[in-house]
Amino acid sequence: MTSPLVISGAGPAGLAAALTIASAGGHPVVYERQRDVGGRFHGDFQGIENWTTQQDALEELAALGIEPTFEVTPFREAMFYDPTGREYRYRSPRPLFYLVRRGPEPGSLDWGLKQQARARGVEIRFKQSRNRLPEGGIVAQGPRGADAIAIGFVFETDMADGAFAVFSDRLAPKGYSYLLIHRGRGTVASCLFRDFHRENIYRERTIAFFRQTVGLTMKNERHFGGTGNFVYPPTGRRGRLLFVGEAAGFQDPLWGFGLRYAMLSGHLAALSLLEGHPERYDARWKKRLGGLMRSAMVNRYLYQRLGDDGYVRLMRRLGPDDDAREWLRARYAWTPWKWLLFPMAKAAIRSHRREKICVQEGCDCTWCHCHRTLDIEGKKCR
Ligand SMILES: Cc1cc2nc3c(=O)[nH]c(=O)nc-3n(C[C@H](O)[C@H](O)[C@H](O)COP(=O)(O)OP(=O)(O)OC[C@H]3O[C@@H](n4cnc5c(N)ncnc54)[C@H](O)[C@@H]3O)c2cc1C
Repeated sequence: MTSPLVISGAGPAGLAAALTIASAGGHPVVYERQRDVGGRFHGDFQGIENWTTQQDALEELAALGIEPTFEVTPFREAMFYDPTGREYRYRSPRPLFYLVRRGPEPGSLDWGLKQQARARGVEIRFKQSRNRLPEGGIVAQGPRGADAIAIGFVFETDMADGAFAVFSDRLAPKGYSYLLIHRGRGTVASCLFRDFHRENIYRERTIAFFRQTVGLTMKNERHFGGTGNFVYPPTGRRGRLLFVGEAAGFQDPLWGFGLRYAMLSGHLAALSLLEGHPERYDARWKKRLGGLMRSAMVNRYLYQRLGDDGYVRLMRRLGPDDDAREWLRARYAWTPWKWLLFPMAKAAIRSHRREKICVQEGCDCTWCHCHRTLDIEGKKCR
């Protein structure tokens, strides 16, 4: 029997790596500190973006050996709102994104990946935290700080299916608010990139906005929140340790779409370890994800300079007859003028990976972990 390849973290990145190793006849062992997969999520809807490549996202995942053994729904249309409340309907003949659910429940992305992994003989050891991997392996432990947070509710509703988003600094500074409805379930959230201390105010404004504009109704609502972390790392490797997904900082810096990055980087790291050449990993992720991430970093740099007036101008530029998917794909392409802007963007967008703590006494923030970590003065925050 081959010696096991160790993976720490059973999120999409870790499980994609495990699937690749198992499919090649290897022996992956995944350590997960929670008692099941998806423990950081709450049954909330997320989207697998389908606008950064010509190739369809699900086809790309299938080529990596990841089958849609989870509930997945294509969305070809979404309603957007600018800060004045003006409505824009954006469509595409091909799916703009694929709606999935996160969390441990049957049907979720996490559950589907777990089922697939088990069917291929992957060993997952729950309730076992692995912070050190002296033998080398794959680190897939998720975000290490909060560069963005999402805070909102998951709920039941009588509303019709739909996807809605608002760009407004009043609702989500330098980010966006979103509402996703599918088959009587919904997720509403404010996704902020600044001013985390006032997260509850932005969440309430977001709820009020959607109540007024689309008649949001919620039953059995449950609060949820989570953090996102992005950084363009010089390397994804430390010796025989390969970092994947958000543990490496891989995520779309513009809007925080990290699922494709997670599964792709997990797969690429696994290939490199299977070949016995971990040093090949950097070249691999840079080829597939590097240009995309650098381009999205420049997009974030420009986007966060726009402000409310700029969001209005931006949204008016995309006409109702344009193919929104193609429009977005062009904006994510790595072009020569982005080479010039990238150093500025990188310098301006400082990751908060090292700042795990908040300076407030007794906080209950989504973004800080001070109830788990010592604060600056060496005292517990609460
Ligand atoms: C509210 C919210 C909404 C989002 N919406 C979208 C979206 O619509 N589209 C999109 O593409 N992305 C979205 N994202 C981002 C996306 O969820 C992440 O990029 C993705 O989950 C990253 O996958 P990962 O495998 O790297 O990390 P995770 O999914 O965080 O998985 C990491 C796993 O490692 C485990 N772990 C941590 N430490 C240890 C340890 N020491 N030992 C063992 N196990 C450990 C954790 O318990 C966890 O299960 C969203 C994120 C949030 C928070």
